[in-house]
Amino acid sequence: MRVLRILLPCLLLMNVHGFAQTSASTKPAPGFSLDNIDKTIDPCVDFYQYACGNWMKKSEIPADRSSWASFTELDERNLDIERGILEKAESGGASRNAIDQKIGDLYGSCMDEKTVNTKGIGPLQPELDRVAAVKDKGALIDEIAHVHLMGPGPLFNFYSNSDLHNADMVIAYIDQGGLSLPDRDYYIKDDARMVDMRKHFVDYATEMFTLAGQTPAQAADSAKTVLRIETALARDSMDRTVRRDPKVRDHKMERDQAVALAPDLYLNRFFVAVGAPNFTELNVGNPDFFKQVNSVVESEPLDALKTYVSWQVLRTAAPWLSQPFVEANFKMRQALTGQKQIQDRWKRCVDLTNSSLGEALGQRYVELTFGADGKQRMLKMVDALERSLNEDIEHLSWMSDETRKQAAIKLEAIRNKIGYPDVYRDYSSVIIKPDDLWGNVARAEEFESKREIAKIGKPLDRKEWGMTPPTVNAYYSPAYNEIVFPAGILQPPFFDKNMDDAINFGGIGLVIGHELTHGFDDQGRKYDPKGNLQDWWTEQDGKEFEKRVSCVADEYSSFVAVDDLKLNGRLTLGENTADNGGARIALMALEHMIADDKSGKEGQKIDGYTPEQRFFLGFGRVWCEKRRPEYERMQVTTNPHSPGRYRVDGVVQNMPEFQKAWGCKAGQPMVAENACHVW
Ligand SMILES: [Zn+2]
Repeated sequence: MRVLRILLPCLLLMNVHGFAQTSASTKPAPGFSLDNIDKTIDPCVDFYQYACGNWMKKSEIPADRSSWASFTELDERNLDIERGILEKAESGGASRNAIDQKIGDLYGSCMDEKTVNTKGIGPLQPELDRVAAVKDKGALIDEIAHVHLMGPGPLFNFYSNSDLHNADMVIAYIDQGGLSLPDRDYYIKDDARMVDMRKHFVDYATEMFTLAGQTPAQAADSAKTVLRIETALARDSMDRTVRRDPKVRDHKMERDQAVALAPDLYLNRFFVAVGAPNFTELNVGNPDFFKQVNSVVESEPLDALKTYVSWQVLRTAAPWLSQPFVEANFKMRQALTGQKQIQDRWKRCVDLTNSSLGEALGQRYVELTFGADGKQRMLKMVDALERSLNEDIEHLSWMSDETRKQAAIKLEAIRNKIGYPDVYRDYSSVIIKPDDLWGNVARAEEFESKREIAKIGKPLDRKEWGMTPPTVNAYYSPAYNEIVFPAGILQPPFFDKNMDDAINFGGIGLVIGHELTHGFDDQGRKYDPKGNLQDWWTEQDGKEFEKRVSCVADEYSSFVAVDDLKLNGRLTLGENTADNGGARIALMALEHMIADDKSGKEGQKIDGYTPEQRFFLGFGRVWCEKRRPEYERMQVTTNPHSPGRYRVDGVVQNMPEFQKAWGCKAGQPMVAENACHVW
């Protein structure tokens, strides 16, 4: 259920982690270097190519990756550090404390491939038997509730989150879900690529059912059943671009009303079986979807539904079962992303520990890597960026004083979290055994699901974090109205204590500006300072905002991602708005620092570049990346972030400050004819 932290606009959506200013890793941190620059390119023609050209020439996507970027470079380094922590925790023996026992034994149970292979499907068999034993559709919903607790969400999603109209309180949510492929488009679009993916999917499911003991003919049938049911769910799933608008997901209703949307689904029975506290109201993200779920449950035979539920269990467990399951599962990933080789087992086991017991591993990680001065320097930069955004709001030409005042109030209310949580999650009730990998995974999932469900009806805990400390990423949460920077991102090339301020303002400064701007993008602007979905804009200012973001949407929609595939400027609108606003206010903050520096040192050239030029070079460095074409295609469909090239070129061509810094002339590619400017 943890995949449901979907309301966090972050810096990038990839599931990566990372860090250390100290030398806990043998791999060097990927910092800023002049060697990455391709001086044969004119920065006014293609700035991204200029800033990253040599980096791209030197870099190759490792076989076990679908892309290579500063995020993944940091991730590799982080994996190394975490491996060290986990190996030590594993070998600590009986004298270990509770945290080391849990993370060490989870990692150890994962690394013990021999035991895992010997057991085959054994660890999962009791779960499959439970599904097989279901006698009617009422009992099926009880089983679906049980499965939901273990991680997979057959048919729909159930979770808790703050009330859109009373952000201080947590309520229950049900929403569309139940798909295995990355997006509804994979089921309903008829272009060659999607048709091909569905073929891969049927092969994948057939192989998994065969491995689980069905005859090849049965397995092929089962796979078709799964595709049929998931396609029906996909048909009434809302498009992810439409879903960007929080208002279309805002359907708070009485529990009885929600239950009545899908009478054959027995939702009341589900809520009880999943152990939810009693509640009278909930939010239904997509009511039409539940009408469709009802017709699926009503029209499909019980056996077909059982096949589908077994599938959801199987595919979730596959990476933690024996080798044939792992390989079948990887083949599908390969088709989707182009990744050539599966990651080494130890990397998968580190990732598992981070996703299952992230705040326990994270606690050790922070002890090892996060210097006390890191937080202080970050606080200073956050403060500088907030002042710049405030100044920007004060001087925006298109905004009335009324809305301007409200915007300033919202900005003032934004909280920040840096490094790691004040209170770490307590995993003491999770039983971790050294020889029971799937059992460990399922128990950790169940712990997390129950923790989420138990929040229903309680006040919102504003101390909670949505990312683990080693994560190389950052986010803004509209419900919490806060910006969050895990320790993992506070390292080069984002933040380098050995570099000049210009480079750092182009890196982490821009990231801070990006997250702050999310509070005022197409989604964030719809929330008030407390995190309620409440309009604080005058009608005219709302129109002016829409006009300006349409410029951004059109700009990015013209960018080609791969072959003839263009970006979806509406899907990526919030991120692009945040990139543009972030760059502008980060540069403003740098200019203030230069102006305030009496010694004049801040304004000096370094290596022949002015501070402004170095700011843009630092920005470019952060987004240097290479992607496999298969992965690029998947990202265009599913990722609200633009590829690195356009996160850089798309921004600089809107900035007169860039043109001034590099002496670009009208008519050159990095000088947009109709420059977009929102924040
Ligand atoms: Zn973002």
